[in-house]
Amino acid sequence: MRELVFATNNQHKTEEVRRLLEGQYTVLNLSDIGCTTDIPETGHTFAENAELKTAYVVEHYQLDCFADDSGLEVEALDQEPGIYSARYAGQRGDAENLQLVLQKMEGQSNRKARFRTVISLVQNQTKYLFEGMIEGTLREEASGAQGFGYDPIFQPNGYNITFAEMSMAEKNEISHRAQAMKKLIAFLKAQA
Ligand code: IMP
Repeated sequence: MRELVFATNNQHKTEEVRRLLEGQYTVLNLSDIGCTTDIPETGHTFAENAELKTAYVVEHYQLDCFADDSGLEVEALDQEPGIYSARYAGQRGDAENLQLVLQKMEGQSNRKARFRTVISLVQNQTKYLFEGMIEGTLREEASGAQGFGYDPIFQPNGYNITFAEMSMAEKNEISHRAQAMKKLIAFLKAQA
């Protein structure tokens, strides 16, 4: 069976993709190939950061590979936190990042926001990109206990609940990451 590296340390993401590609690809993650480097994400866009991760694996391990990069873009904040989503309030964590966005949005009437994911794939030395996006609005207060990151303040368009008030299955039907992943999986299945 063909092998494909998912350039992530996230075991949950790895298992999810492994199930989706069962029987067609053997999916390995960074720890499976013995890569313990914290690959620097110094790009200026989601695509650049995803490509830095795939390029690292291709250069050091000569293996076909894909990687994802995601974040929240808020229109009134010039699309911040964007690529800084994971460290918007420094190295302090999800709750502080979310509070900083709420604080910067105080009194702001334009509450449009979107989540984006870009996946980079390198297969047979050819580069591909797949994108997913979900648009919505930011609540003025956090609500809900599911999910992670900015989920408690993000309400997708067409819903009156936040991502953090949805079940994981419901979020996975519509999320930015799920949309990008579906495109990648469809592409890979057509290759197999
Ligand atoms: P990653 O590239 O998937 O690791 O995401 C980077 C950061 O974006 C995360 O640490 C979160 O702050 C934010 N983020 C990405 N996807 C989501 C999501 O589905 N819900 C909430 N926050 C997210």
